[in-house]
Amino acid sequence: MSGRTAIVIGAGIVGLATARALQTAGHRPLLIDPEKPGSQTSYGNAGLIAGSAVVPEARPGLFRRLPRLLLDPDGPLAIRPRHLPNLLRYGYHVARAARPAEVERISQAMAALTLPAYDRWMDLLEDLPDARRLFRRDGCLYLYRSQEERAGAAAANALRRRRGMILDDVNQAELRQLAPGLALQSDHAVLSRDSGQVTSPWRLSQHLAAALTDAGAEFLPERAIAVEGRGSRLSAVVTETGRHPCDLVVLAAGARSRPLARKLGLSVPLDSERGYHLDLPLDPAGLRLPALVPSLGVAVTPLDDGIRVAGLVEFAGLEAPPAEAFFTRLERRAQLLFRISDFSRAKRWMGQRPSLPDGLPILGRAPRFENAWLAFGHGQMGLTQAAATGLLIRDLIEGRAPGIDMTPYAGERFS
Ligand SMILES: Cc1cc2nc3c(=O)[nH]c(=O)nc-3n(C[C@H](O)[C@H](O)[C@H](O)COP(=O)(O)OP(=O)(O)OC[C@H]3O[C@@H](n4cnc5c(N)ncnc54)[C@H](O)[C@@H]3O)c2cc1C
Repeated sequence: MSGRTAIVIGAGIVGLATARALQTAGHRPLLIDPEKPGSQTSYGNAGLIAGSAVVPEARPGLFRRLPRLLLDPDGPLAIRPRHLPNLLRYGYHVARAARPAEVERISQAMAALTLPAYDRWMDLLEDLPDARRLFRRDGCLYLYRSQEERAGAAAANALRRRRGMILDDVNQAELRQLAPGLALQSDHAVLSRDSGQVTSPWRLSQHLAAALTDAGAEFLPERAIAVEGRGSRLSAVVTETGRHPCDLVVLAAGARSRPLARKLGLSVPLDSERGYHLDLPLDPAGLRLPALVPSLGVAVTPLDDGIRVAGLVEFAGLEAPPAEAFFTRLERRAQLLFRISDFSRAKRWMGQRPSLPDGLPILGRAPRFENAWLAFGHGQMGLTQAAATGLLIRDLIEGRAPGIDMTPYAGERFS
């Protein structure tokens, strides 16, 4: 093996995509992660390559809606009271991001990553046809259960159209064709044509990990705990058992990036936005494309092995066990969507979205070291944005113009 040793901390979808982008540019990646590649948050997401994800969660009116959302025992959002004090800084930045001018700016920055996201995946996987076969670009449905819900989404959909998204109305007959297995019928659905999906987020990670290994990358199953450097250059990453020299480092440790970011000179209001899924052994052909039900806070996606109902948001910190009540909420949604009541074969999962208050990731150089790079905080969009992230970080490291304005993703925006 030749090339510069690039340590990537974290082998989730963001770390894997970044390592692959660096490898194809001649670097020699060493991925450090105590867990199996792709086995954490990147394992259980809804699989959407969400082209229409250009609408920030933080928008005017969010705090007005919050009490009703939090008090609803079957709602899509919960905050564990014990975790509330930890959310003060996060909440402050959410309030700032929800100002109208900020919403417009953040939406543009989201679009710069998500609009080309599917194509960036195809670029990154150019020589991996088996991985490319996991991708489909059939669009994504938005299901509104009433005219009122649809009207409530008018501003969000107007913003999507302003960003150039194609949204088509779908009537009940068309919906029955697109989603014959869906019990929930709606005369108020919208099809976002620019979205896609992967049919197995897990297999995508495994293809990337195998391709990396085949081309000489190494995986070290340990936890990174510190960095070493002299002046502005970082020279090694320290794990529980040793010191690993490197030419450059990329921090991509998802929801657990905060302590290491601090060692690289940045204090960030990163929190874990926990989400849940149920994998149902239903025929995936009953749903020809993924669907989002915004009022229920879930997506349903046809995967290789069944249908996944995924979503909900819980702020409870990194270490709290999964909340049983959230699986019940998902089961109620699955009942409504597919009229099933036997969940004995459903597989349950909880994961930690690495979330920043404005919904944008942190991408760019670390403040303290010229050879340390940050790629974390992708929140609800890490699968969508991972390839774009990897290719941008590669361009920055190689000294190439990244093609988009990187200012909105700078970690210093929370200083
Ligand atoms: C229910 C749900 C549905 C979702 N649906 C979608 C969707 O449809 N589309 C989409 O684009 N996104 C979706 N997401 C979001 C997406 O899954 C995440 O944004 C993405 O997985 C984050 O990837 P990551 O690589 O940053 O994090 P992870 O996959 O969590 O990887 C981070 C890795 O870093 C490792 N690590 C942590 N600390 C250290 C350390 N100190 N040293 C070494 N390694 C460390 C961890 O072990 C882990 O393997 C969803 C998320 C959830 C929860």
